[in-house]
Amino acid sequence: MEGDAVEAPGRREELAQALGEVRERIARACRAVGRDEDEVALLAVTKTWPASDVAILADLGLTEFAENRDQEASRKVAEFAELRPGAAAEWRMVGSLQRNKARSVLGWADRVDTVDSIRLADALAKAATKPVDVLVQVSIDGDVARGGHPIGDLPRLADHVALTSELFLRGVMTVAPLSMSPQQAFAALYEAVTRLRDDHPDATVISAGMSGDLEDAIAHGSTCVRVGTALLGSRRLASP
Ligand SMILES: *Cc1c(COP(=O)(O)O)cnc(C)c1O
Repeated sequence: MEGDAVEAPGRREELAQALGEVRERIARACRAVGRDEDEVALLAVTKTWPASDVAILADLGLTEFAENRDQEASRKVAEFAELRPGAAAEWRMVGSLQRNKARSVLGWADRVDTVDSIRLADALAKAATKPVDVLVQVSIDGDVARGGHPIGDLPRLADHVALTSELFLRGVMTVAPLSMSPQQAFAALYEAVTRLRDDHPDATVISAGMSGDLEDAIAHGSTCVRVGTALLGSRRLASP
């Protein structure tokens, strides 16, 4: 872990430049559709990257970070806290989550973005020792093998989460499916969320768009883009 705390030469400049480019892409995409760039949060997906990179990104002004594996994340979050005590950082779980990991994930995650079943919602509620913000992960083409709850059944899962006193439904998250264009997928999500807000007005977060498709997502109402590669580079390790 020692090595993970040490900043590699030139890394700060590299990340500063990449961050500038990503921010410019977000700003341009917002301008193109008449949105204010403050409406779109930048969530840095730091999976496979060391805590020293998170520390640099925090120095550069980022406050939202995401991880997809419980073990890696709990170590990194602790290490980051040592590197930057008191830094304003919020951590999101964006990976598929097994029910038996619910308690452990709640040890480091400030928001769980991948609630995709009633059983997982119940497991999180049971493990919670304080209120937990969650997003419901939606599968837009119904291919649930890639994660997510079928979009047609989104209201039922959202209602269940909202009735669970330990969980706060903050919005939805999706990964664009392979079976349709990102534009089609993000448009379908936006339509579903708009309807959902009749019953769940606090479900304001639409987490959609990654390095490759953030412009399409912003054009279709995304309020949170999850960016890994475009910020940090190609991942060193295979990670789902
Ligand atoms: C890794 C990951 C991302 C980031 O993807 P990039 O293409 O590297 O920007 C976004 N969302 C989820 C759920 C991820 O696992």
